[in-house]
Amino acid sequence: MAADAPRSNFIRHIIDKDLASGKHSSVHTRFPPEPNGFLHIGHAKSIVLNFGIAEDYQGTCNLRFDDTNPLKEKVDYVNSIQEDVRWLGYQWQGEPRYSSNYFDQLHAYAVELIEKGLAYVDFSSQDEMREMRGTLKEPGTNSPYRDTPVAENLQHFADMTAGKFEEGKAALRAKIDMSSPFMCMRDPVIYRVRFAHHHQTGDKWCVYPMYDFTHCISDALEGITHSLCTLEFQDNRRLYDWVLDNISIDCHPQQIEFSRLNLQYTVMSKRKLNELVEEGKVSGWNDPRMPTIAGMRRRGYTPSSVREFCHRIGVTKMDNQVEMSMLEACLRDELNHGAPRAMAVIDPVRLVIENYPEGEVEQLQAPNHPSDESMGSREVPFAREIYIEREDFRESANKKYKRLVLEKEVRLRNAYVIKAERVEKDAEGNITTIFCSYDPDTLGKDPADGRKVKGVIHWVAAAHAKPAEFRLYDRLFQVPNPAAEEDFFSTLNPDSLRVQHGFVEPSMATAEAEKPYQFERIGYFCADNQDSTPEHLVFNQTVGLRDTWNDEA
Ligand code: ATP
Ligand code: MG
Repeated sequence: MAADAPRSNFIRHIIDKDLASGKHSSVHTRFPPEPNGFLHIGHAKSIVLNFGIAEDYQGTCNLRFDDTNPLKEKVDYVNSIQEDVRWLGYQWQGEPRYSSNYFDQLHAYAVELIEKGLAYVDFSSQDEMREMRGTLKEPGTNSPYRDTPVAENLQHFADMTAGKFEEGKAALRAKIDMSSPFMCMRDPVIYRVRFAHHHQTGDKWCVYPMYDFTHCISDALEGITHSLCTLEFQDNRRLYDWVLDNISIDCHPQQIEFSRLNLQYTVMSKRKLNELVEEGKVSGWNDPRMPTIAGMRRRGYTPSSVREFCHRIGVTKMDNQVEMSMLEACLRDELNHGAPRAMAVIDPVRLVIENYPEGEVEQLQAPNHPSDESMGSREVPFAREIYIEREDFRESANKKYKRLVLEKEVRLRNAYVIKAERVEKDAEGNITTIFCSYDPDTLGKDPADGRKVKGVIHWVAAAHAKPAEFRLYDRLFQVPNPAAEEDFFSTLNPDSLRVQHGFVEPSMATAEAEKPYQFERIGYFCADNQDSTPEHLVFNQTVGLRDTWNDEA
């Protein structure tokens, strides 16, 4: 289980009070995803809140699939959700639950409402129902079916359940108040006809309960004490309470709303994420540019950095947009301390050290971390031919350029001081090789005569390095709030993925997938969990060395 320092928030204050007053003696929460897509970073906020509270109060948290809409749901999503929750470091109590586990009970409670004269079958068309619902300014009007006698309603509901009505021809509605200021209380539909195969219940049912009716009863059946949900359900709390107040059930959880996480330069609705996948704008739900847990994991995010982010943003009722740099900062803070260092060259140019003996290879020791000796060191081969980054060399430059310049010196990281002597170019004038000399007396020490060498650049030995593909990521969208655009596809960043072909030091040939390394001077990278093989190494850029969100904006 994940152990993080709990940060207080208004929900924890409510729980503290409930425990102190004796209203509850233990805490029982749930995380209730609909299996119609992969989990995203917004869900992580809810997961960390629900599972975190259960952990800190020695309570329990259920995982419950809210599966009342068989048309949009899939078992693949059920599986990915479980994997993602576990990856985040949490374990639900017992088996995963499904709202569909309760379809029999839900049906019986619907019958109870009918018997009490609190629900009726409506044969109005959807347009008619919409018409009768009224508006925010005007009350609705009662349906002509509102006063159907109980016995007839029971028969109609039985007929609905038996498949005697087509979809859209009949619906069961709660009889509440057509003039309520809360639209959700104007006789909401609680059961509808759907001739759909369900991933859990197969073809058993052709009527399915609506979310608002299902959720509160599922919570109560599981003995949930605090039902935490996002702000858009604020009004629906009236319906949540109405249903539980009007059926014979002992438990009445308290619904508490908090604000959703919105993250800049991305979208969070599963419908929109699904469109990105379906339209091929990304390679899948786990594309490293996606704000999904699976995408972030593939990119190199760690569970603890995601949890830390969820703690830092806090839990309130205020709507806001969180900057991407805040998410990246959590990761960068962690990786700066924890990620081993390695060398990679992503845009290589050949460099030959002419006074280094041909055929000789030295195994140099390179520390895995500049300030944490406990992370040990590794051997890095050094030889006459190496690759350096093309942008780390210039034929001429001013003093601010602290890299390799013709006729000047620079230090090779973990190795010697070299001096650029001359270059060779192709017909187009591109540099193909840089010829250098090295000072053999500079391994791990400054030049003996007191020459100052300021710059340090990274490198890999040409004959030993492994070829690698590097996938460099930028923001997926060009505007901070793509969801607000009429056509959010039009704001996709065409350069959100850039591919480079270069080399990594030999030790990276066996880099574990998803485990981030700092490629010195370039950024954090991890081996791709899907496409990287020993024959074709692929590294995903996890995050840059410093925050560039604000410079670029
Ligand atoms: P989406 O709009 O992305 O489809 P949803 O609310 O329909 O989201 P669910 O699967 O129903 O997705 O969500 C499961 C739980 O996660 C709910 O309790 C929901 O309130 C919460 N949740 C979803 N999105 C966010 C978010 N952006 N921030 C915080 N909690 C969220
Ligand atoms: Mg939902």
